Amino acid sequence: MNKYIKNILKYAGLPGMRIAWATIALLGVSIVLSALNVSDWGLFIVLLLMWVAVLGNSIYSTRLNMEVSSSSEKMKNVISNLKDGVVFYDENFRIGIFNPASESIFRVDKKDVVGKIFGPELVTEQKWKLLVQTLFPSLAPLVVWKSEAGVYPQVVDVSFTDPGLDLRVTTDRLADSSGRIIGFIKIIHDRTSEIKLAKSESEFVTVTAHQLRTPLTGINWSLQSIASDPDAGENAKGLAKIAMEAAEKLLKTVDDLLNVSKMESGALGYAFEDANLISFINTQLNNLLPTARTYGINLYFDKSNVESLPVRIDPDRLGLALANLVDNAIKYNNPNGSVTVKVEKQQDKPYAVITVSDTGIGIPPDALNKLFTKFFRAENAISKQTEGTGLGLYMTKGIIERHGGRIWADSVPGRGTNFYFTIPTDFNLIPPKEVINLL
Ligand code: ADP
Repeated sequence: MNKYIKNILKYAGLPGMRIAWATIALLGVSIVLSALNVSDWGLFIVLLLMWVAVLGNSIYSTRLNMEVSSSSEKMKNVISNLKDGVVFYDENFRIGIFNPASESIFRVDKKDVVGKIFGPELVTEQKWKLLVQTLFPSLAPLVVWKSEAGVYPQVVDVSFTDPGLDLRVTTDRLADSSGRIIGFIKIIHDRTSEIKLAKSESEFVTVTAHQLRTPLTGINWSLQSIASDPDAGENAKGLAKIAMEAAEKLLKTVDDLLNVSKMESGALGYAFEDANLISFINTQLNNLLPTARTYGINLYFDKSNVESLPVRIDPDRLGLALANLVDNAIKYNNPNGSVTVKVEKQQDKPYAVITVSDTGIGIPPDALNKLFTKFFRAENAISKQTEGTGLGLYMTKGIIERHGGRIWADSVPGRGTNFYFTIPTDFNLIPPKEVINLL
């Protein structure tokens, strides 16, 4: 059958075809008038052509409408079946979309939510508390911003204790075709069970590392006694020293694992105090000078003419993070190379930026995005330095984020590497509390 006729039959009963059927009566009238010789057949032909045009247009717009409604139906199905919560609201915080996953996360009915305006004042009503604290994260008991303020999509982790919930909320703006913002969409990922699992894994590592630590300390102590015993033979002393070095490396790995698992479960324990960032870095670098000398590396400090930069830090933890970066810059360097640590106050932003630059082996481009993951070591680093756990940068990132800062790196393989990290100079940017840290 002709495609045109098939379409007419397919869409005949739909509302979009009404004009075509209503105007067909005109054709009938014109046939009667022509047959009675009241008008000529010319008028009928003109009307017929016009009607065919109306019919074509009706079929076209009906088909278009059907396509649009079927794709918006598909979109609705996708949103309804998503495991993550999806909430859309306009600039007045009037909710327009609230999918079933959101209903189960926030324990409220879609019919009570859609069309309602949500303001921060509703936080006092128990029924809306969880939803309002997620829409306005600054009202939540525990918030960790994962993206910079004002940059979209915004990512934030919010945690609640009653009920126990860990949510990662991604917010983006929605604009119409002219670019005008018409509202916001939030994707809410419930991480509660992921975090529970990670916590139990991390507890397992903590217990195991603790169990290993005590006998290892005993072995180390016994080996030290043999190595320094005047009655022991030279051969035994030599062997004891070799065994002692191995035991010390093992102890360091166990300590790293212990610290990482404590950090992941939010139990590292931070003691913040006011400090001058410049003198803090100066002291840390003085402690690292002997290592730099051992490797034949020159260590420089560039203060950018700043004498005092007030910050609030945990000096032990941040000292560990800085030592990790400088240690790597020394270890993965070339003979007679250099390491420069530079501090500057960021222009127009409440942060200090610390750069650790080296003239070393560099990092291959494909390794740059894996640097801060647990146990990662690049091939060129493994061949240069066989020892290493791949835990240092993971730990360093966690410590810097706990201070409210960020860390990133760039590198030219064979030429050197720059690690950058920020520390807030506005103390309100420091997260209020240590959190479960699944990086
Ligand atoms: P480790 O040094 O024990 O291997 P880290 O977590 O400190 O572990 O570093 C992870 C990896 O990052 C290193 O193995 C190396 O591949 C790379 N890396 C870190 N710092 C540097 C650097 N300054 N120059 C080149 N590679 C680096």
